[in-house]
Amino acid sequence: MAPDGQTLAPNVYDAEPIPESARAEIDRLLASGDLFRYTAAEGAPVSLLEAEFAELMGARYALAVSSCSAALFLSLKALDLPAGAKVLIPAFTFAAVPSAVVHADCVPVLVEVGDNYRVDMADFAAKLDGADAVLISHMRGHTSDMDAIMALCDARNIPVIEDAAHSLGTVWGGRKIGTVGKVGCFSFQSYKLVNAGEGGILITDDPEIAARCVIMSGAYESNWKKHPGMQNSYMLWQNRLPLYNMRMQNLSAAVIRPQLPEVAGRVAKGRAGHDRVADQLNESPWLVVPPPLPREERAPDSIQFNLKGDWTDAQALRFQAEAKARGITVQVFGLSEGNARAFWNWQFLGPQPDLPKTRAMLMRACDVRLPTRLTEAELDYIATAIIDAAKAVQTPS
Ligand SMILES: *Cc1c(COP(=O)(O)O)cnc(C)c1O
Repeated sequence: MAPDGQTLAPNVYDAEPIPESARAEIDRLLASGDLFRYTAAEGAPVSLLEAEFAELMGARYALAVSSCSAALFLSLKALDLPAGAKVLIPAFTFAAVPSAVVHADCVPVLVEVGDNYRVDMADFAAKLDGADAVLISHMRGHTSDMDAIMALCDARNIPVIEDAAHSLGTVWGGRKIGTVGKVGCFSFQSYKLVNAGEGGILITDDPEIAARCVIMSGAYESNWKKHPGMQNSYMLWQNRLPLYNMRMQNLSAAVIRPQLPEVAGRVAKGRAGHDRVADQLNESPWLVVPPPLPREERAPDSIQFNLKGDWTDAQALRFQAEAKARGITVQVFGLSEGNARAFWNWQFLGPQPDLPKTRAMLMRACDVRLPTRLTEAELDYIATAIIDAAKAVQTPS
């Protein structure tokens, strides 16, 4: 608060704070130097995290790794696809996702995304024949129609991996996101709901996939014995699969574990904060927040909205500047230089067919972080600043 009682523009860049209770365990690890997950005979923080996360999600197996990108890469490798296999991904995602596909020696096939940020099911169905796997990125926590996607893929026996990096806590038709497909991958990078700086975890009910991922993540020699279950599978895969060494270290797990009991509270706060801002933005004639699909209960820590009606690129850029002048950074995905979420910037893929729907969406879709710790006054400040910025451009005095 400023001295006159006005709320100042909130800082939306700081990540979620680390609970005080993490400190004792971190001190213990620093004092002992026990940072490698496989040194302790049992009870290593990374192993405890895996058990707790599997329990939280209701999954049989969990494997903690160095990032969500590593989890996606290992999941694809574990599917044992032929080199050059085609993997469908939404064209609206983070550059690390097509990168993981390329890293796994597969070829990404980009699927159109509509102006509600979700997979365009007609384009998905048209591109599914000839696909070897599907990787659904729940971008910014927005859930595509998983019933339709699973029905189409199950009918063709095509495995589905969920990139739930930013979807921890989201529920689809009563099922936790990340448990709908064959493998679910999550991120603990700082700008996600659980903050460890870096880190990721994958969950699956499939013992073969779990075993292959464990070995490839770097459980060399007999270290796989420290993962519960499936001992025969590990025997089968040891030394027959490469070691990519993408393990998580104990300090990361010590930072993550005390945040898991806070997930439900952060989800509830994030949803309430998002919906509070969305209701206000939807009152503006120039802004629209696409609603969730009916089966989705979201867990947002940011808000996306579209510039509604007639906006030129120049006006959209002026809107960004007007918001900035009010202390709020709005990113129009397609108008910010080199944005890693704009598919035309993924030059490492080589030439790609154009995706007019996704392109049109990216040119008018806006992104603002709403960390779950914001107060109602701060959320209202952000909503007002965005609405006033749109008004300043559309009805200049
Ligand atoms: C953050 C994010 C990733 C990458 O996660 P890392 O842990 O940084 O590798 C992938 N996909 C989506 C949708 C993300 O939000």
